[in-house]
Formats: sequence, C-alpha cells, structure tokens
Amino acid sequence: MNVLKAIRRRALAHYRTYRGVRFIVEGLLSSRHPLLAHLIPIRRCNLSCAYCNEYDDHSQPVPLDLLFSRIDRLAWFGTRVITISGGEPLLHPELDHVIRHIHRHRITTGLITNGYLLTADRIQGLNRAGLEYLQISIDNVMPDQVSKKSLKVLDKKLELLAEHADFHVNINSVLGGGVNNPQDALVIARRAVALGLGTTVGVIHDGSGQLRPLSPQEQSIYLQIHHMGKRRLSFARFNNFQGDIAHGRSHQWRCRAGSRYLYICEDGLVHYCSQQRGYPAIPLQEYTLEHLRREYTTEKSCAPHCTVSCVQQVAIIDNWRAPQRVMAPLPRRPSAPLVQVKSELRDPTEVVSAD
Ligand code: SF4
Ligand code: SF4
Repeated sequence: MNVLKAIRRRALAHYRTYRGVRFIVEGLLSSRHPLLAHLIPIRRCNLSCAYCNEYDDHSQPVPLDLLFSRIDRLAWFGTRVITISGGEPLLHPELDHVIRHIHRHRITTGLITNGYLLTADRIQGLNRAGLEYLQISIDNVMPDQVSKKSLKVLDKKLELLAEHADFHVNINSVLGGGVNNPQDALVIARRAVALGLGTTVGVIHDGSGQLRPLSPQEQSIYLQIHHMGKRRLSFARFNNFQGDIAHGRSHQWRCRAGSRYLYICEDGLVHYCSQQRGYPAIPLQEYTLEHLRREYTTEKSCAPHCTVSCVQQVAIIDNWRAPQRVMAPLPRRPSAPLVQVKSELRDPTEVVSAD
C-alpha cells in the first residue's frame, strides 16, 4: 500500500472514531432521535440461502426519488446511522446515489451485502460515494445446500476489499443452530484478521427458533473470535446478550425498536425489525415524533429471546433510562399481517462502533 493511501485510510479511521464517540455522547444526552435505521432499496437477492426469509427473486429496485424522500424523512428525525440492507443491495443500479444522498445529510452510512457483486470498480465507487462501513456475513468455508456465502467463493472479494476499500469492513461468521462445522467460523475470522479486516461472530437460533446453548467446542470458538474482535472499540464489548444466547439464557433488556431503531422496508413502511415485519407497518412519511416516543416506552414481549444484535446494541445507550411500560399497541394497518421471519444473523456492530 502506498504511503498516501495509508495516510488517507488512517485519517478516515480517526474520523470514524470521532463520529462513533459523538454518536454515543449524543445518544446519552437525548433519547429523542433514532440512532440506527435499516433501509431496504431492493428485496431481490442473487442468492437463496435456505434459512432466509428476507428476499425474493423478482422485486424491482425502489425508485431513487422514493429512496431520497425516505432518507430525507429519516434525516428530519435526526437519525444518526443508516444501514442499507436487502435482499442484496448491490443489485440496486443506483446504490451509489443512495449512499451519496445519505452522506450529504452527514448521516453515517453502512452497507450489508453478500459480497458476490463486489469488484475493484464497485468498491472504488463506494469509496467515492462516502460509504463508511460494510459488513459481509460468511456462513461456511465450503458452499453447501444451506448457504453459498462461503469463504471459498468470497475470499477473492475479501482481498479486493482489503486492497481498495477506504471504509471499514467487518466479516461476520456464525455459530449455533444449523451450522454444521463450527470450526469454519474460526477459519473465517482468522482470514479476516489476516487481511486487516474486522471480525465478529453471531450466535443463531436452532431450526425451531429456540435458544440452544452452544456446545463446549462452540463456546470455545465463540470466545476466541470474540477476543479477536475486541481489538476494536465496539458495543459488543459492553453487551452480553450474545453471551447469554451462547449459554441458552434469556436476556433482559429494553428493546427500543420503532424509536431508536427503525426498519424501513422496500414499500417505505416502518417495522420494528426484520424479525417483526408487519408491525407497526406505518408509512415512514406518516410516522411522527409521537410514534417515536410511544415505541420508546413500549415493552416488546419478544425481547428476552431476541437475536437481533443491531437493535440490542443501540439499546445499550438507553438501558439505564426509565423502565418501559406495556402499552396498548398502535393500530396495525389491516393489510400488514404480522410476519415472523428468521433472519440472517446480521451484526452491524461496526456501524455504531469506532476504530
Ligand atoms: S441471507 Fe442474505 S444473501 Fe442469503 S438469501 Fe438472504 S438476503 Fe440473500
Ligand atoms: S425481535 Fe428483537 S428487535 Fe425485534 S421487536 Fe422483538 S425484541 Fe425488538
């Protein structure tokens, strides 16, 4: 790497640290703005992982003007981080414009992708657009019937990222229910570290959606990877929820979905999260400060066994604040049935952390 490139990367890393600290301080000072929103620009995916309910094979990209107006609305609320997710967001032909628009609002921008469509040109385009964080989840070393998000397939993409990306890259591996070879997670994490990329590990439910304690071997791997990831300042350091999940325990916390965290689907509706789509399912343009306040204080019954790590991480900022109370839910839109989906374990820890 040439010297100028190294200096530029170091400067950007310091800037991300500054933004991360400001994110925490502002979150502690006020509970009135959303900390993190997930925005879906396209539901379509080029893969079809067996465990995933968050994609289809036919949806069209959301038009740019609609995405711009959603971003403007999130900016009006004072949202600090927007993470673009899918489906596979790189299938959106105007993704760089979307990132640039978020960047124009001085909102931190993250991207969750399966990585298949990354090229050197595409990565440099993301640099120019102002992307700050990118995460790829890798499920196994060799592709199998469940998932093609494999180190064997994606290793070249990781090398491209290590060479060209000015943004922070995090590689997430998984342990727990349905993962055939737990040793794979360690191989993936070591490869990420060797390339100078960040690494996290997620613990997933078993096939019936239940918490299952990790085996002694899985727990040992979990701790090793957790230790590798601790070189960076990350909310995961202060959040023991995955430790509880690893031991099969329920976790006590206050879910602030619908308030501090917003999930904006391709139709522009606000949902609690990827696992609770269909509720409250109110159009973002009709979502108000009153909705934010109400959901802030609404207890979520699904919280003790929740595995949605990004929502748990932003909740740390408010866990010391007043307890939630159970409230009558907001009227649900009749056309929006409650959908329980088993999501890809996505851990955008790095989106709210600092180098
Ligand atoms: S887990 Fe990710 S890559 Fe796999 S089908 Fe779902 S959205 Fe696509
Ligand atoms: S599944 Fe988790 S993040 Fe989603 S609403 Fe329930 S507790 Fe909150």
